[in-house]
Amino acid sequence: MKTLVLGENEIDKAAEIIKNGGLVAMPTETVYGLAANALDGKAVAKIFKAKGRPMDNPLIVHISDISQIYMLVREFPEKAKILAEKFWAGPLTIILPKSDIIPDEVSAGLDTVAVRFPSNKIAQALISKSMPLAAPSANLSGSPSPTNARHVLDDMKGRINAVIDGGECEVGVESTVITLATDIPRLLRPGGITVEQLREAIGEVVIDDAVLNPLKSGQKAASPGMKYKHYAPKAHIILLEGSDDSFIEYVNSRKANGIAALCYDEDIDRLEVPCIPIGHADDYEMQSHKLFSSLRNADEQGFLTVYAHCPKTDGMGLAVYNRIIRAAGFEVIEI
Ligand code: AMP
Ligand code: MG
Repeated sequence: MKTLVLGENEIDKAAEIIKNGGLVAMPTETVYGLAANALDGKAVAKIFKAKGRPMDNPLIVHISDISQIYMLVREFPEKAKILAEKFWAGPLTIILPKSDIIPDEVSAGLDTVAVRFPSNKIAQALISKSMPLAAPSANLSGSPSPTNARHVLDDMKGRINAVIDGGECEVGVESTVITLATDIPRLLRPGGITVEQLREAIGEVVIDDAVLNPLKSGQKAASPGMKYKHYAPKAHIILLEGSDDSFIEYVNSRKANGIAALCYDEDIDRLEVPCIPIGHADDYEMQSHKLFSSLRNADEQGFLTVYAHCPKTDGMGLAVYNRIIRAAGFEVIEI
């Protein structure tokens, strides 16, 4: 299959591909999404095939107006309304009991559906001109999510009908996922909307165990995606937990060919190995913006082992931590 690269002024062409049951990668403010008509099970099944995504990992449905949620869900409770009013359009996904219109392919057989209203204008235009769009990240399953059109092509060229090139994604990590289909709202994935912001808006929100910890054997994942290996480049990533000084000492003592550091800008001058800096220690926005392209960059440079400086977990730091610890396959060394 030839993969077209479309410009921002070719949304009509992209919408036509969607209407004909095809796949289009689109920019969003979080990462690039691989979109199909969410109401067409056959089209949605192609997403799983193109990505190599396990069929039991459900997809997020993207809308371009809050009112479109009513056809997708059975209930739209007060807390969901508050979150939608406050954080949409934006990087927040809300899980609610699904309506019958949602094909099984989208919900992976669950009784719920994940819904998001992205703020990216290209995504909004494409949704408005076609349908609600089911769209996971537009990478091969397991690899780092794409934050520009080149990343999408690196993974998906020949596997999808088109990509719309909308430049770099602002946020850089996937949306925050919260379920309101449980008694107490539960954070399933941290992202651009922080748990602190969610609690300020609706009160109690519990953080699901799987956000910070690997699933224990036999434990059921609240969000099926959490049980799979994620965001992993080819390089071996190891997370180092300890003081800033011990990070520098530990990495420098392992200086060798193929060793690199995923680090803060402040670390560069002190490190004696190649550095992949992701921003200042307290600039979580920059860190999430740069994280996935940095992981891809580590592979492009052929590094074998990358030691990562452990992020803090307040605010958006939690989203960065959650991605790095998965990229590291939960391999953490306390130093
Ligand atoms: P991605 O589309 O690659 O950003 O991944 C979407 C994430 O949302 C995955 O971790 C899914 O498991 C999760 N997800 C989507 N729909 C649901 C749902 N109905 N219930 C729980 N988790 C969901
Ligand atoms: Mg993904």
